[in-house]
Amino acid sequence: MKITCIAGDGIGPEIVREARKVLEKIATVYGHEFEFNDILMGGCSIDAYGVPLTDEAIAAAKEADAVLMGSIGGNTSTSPWYKLEPSLRPEAGLLKLRKSLNLFANLRPAYLYPVLKDACPLKESTGDKGFDMLIMRELTGGLYFGDRKTVERDGELVAIDTLEYKESEIRRIAIKAFDVARKRRKSVISVDKANVLDSSRLWRKVVEGVAKDYPDVTLEHMLVDNCAMQLVKNPSQFDVVLTENMFGDILSDEASMITGSIGMLPSASLNDTSFGLYEPSHGSAPDIAGQNIANPIATILSAAMMLRYSFNLDKEADAIEKAVELVLEDGYRTVDLMSSGHGDELKNTSCSEMGDLIAGRITDCKN
Ligand code: NAD
Repeated sequence: MKITCIAGDGIGPEIVREARKVLEKIATVYGHEFEFNDILMGGCSIDAYGVPLTDEAIAAAKEADAVLMGSIGGNTSTSPWYKLEPSLRPEAGLLKLRKSLNLFANLRPAYLYPVLKDACPLKESTGDKGFDMLIMRELTGGLYFGDRKTVERDGELVAIDTLEYKESEIRRIAIKAFDVARKRRKSVISVDKANVLDSSRLWRKVVEGVAKDYPDVTLEHMLVDNCAMQLVKNPSQFDVVLTENMFGDILSDEASMITGSIGMLPSASLNDTSFGLYEPSHGSAPDIAGQNIANPIATILSAAMMLRYSFNLDKEADAIEKAVELVLEDGYRTVDLMSSGHGDELKNTSCSEMGDLIAGRITDCKN
């Protein structure tokens, strides 16, 4: 399996190194072969080539079976990269890559590890109950990609953004959601605003059509305002949450916030083949870069998602997730997690030690 790696900027190289360490261990334990190919994207590509992503790098990513990424960007107030025009800044590279690879489905799991429940900002009883959901967000349509303009009308400025969805765009993301639900607890909650928006009424109709092909998966609809409330009231009710671009942008941040730990959250962006881009949900953390203190777990869990969704290696993905859980249960914590648990029993761990510990547990977790 060919994996293109984008270490990126800031803590990116440190956390990708640890994810590769764990993948190498998986390869040894399960008898697979992963071929890694590194490309530059973001600030490091600007420094080397003057642009955040070269055409050669895109071609290399397209040749791979999946892309594993760290994070890109620098300090947005002080880095010279942010004095460049917007199309030449680090983030433009990521948008260009997503577009070139047609990555329309964004998957963000939000799981509360029992050992990290103290980090959950919700009521203790909610933390005790736990939650394990996955937000499936449409990533290339809707309001963020519709026509927009600002015009002058009757002596004042009027801004217009267009929210448009085609049946085909809704159908392909709904199919992804139902396919993923089959690998989980077989429940999809589709979130929309069908009491107001035409685009949501079409969304509902198409999702119901797709659901007919998945009689083993239950489907419910929920209005987005209610979903925002339910996420903080009773998050354990959610398995797969299927939603459009802007609702997904907001709800996925809310869902990640209630886990209380930014360094733990992986993500995947998929197209209609098995190809995917896998990256942590956090940024490049320039404030702690180069100190070997970043939490690599979100990137390691992104590698597990890559095994599950691009390579269909569920057992290997399970082994990584279980290894992470065991290491946390043993009390090891990178600095960002030191407040989650009983202080005196916790062992402060560096980024590279965390990678070693998780890789070291893979054999115990072989299933
Ligand atoms: P950030 O997520 O990088 O950092 C926010 C805070 O969380 C910081 O205090 C940081 O130290 C901490 N943090 C983040 N990840 C951590 C980890 N793995 N371990 C321990 N602590 C961690 O967000 P920001 O500071 O707003 O952005 C920094 C840069 O990252 C910006 O240039 C931004 O544009 C970029 N960014 C990139 C991506 C991406 O590559 N997909 C996503 C978000 C932000």
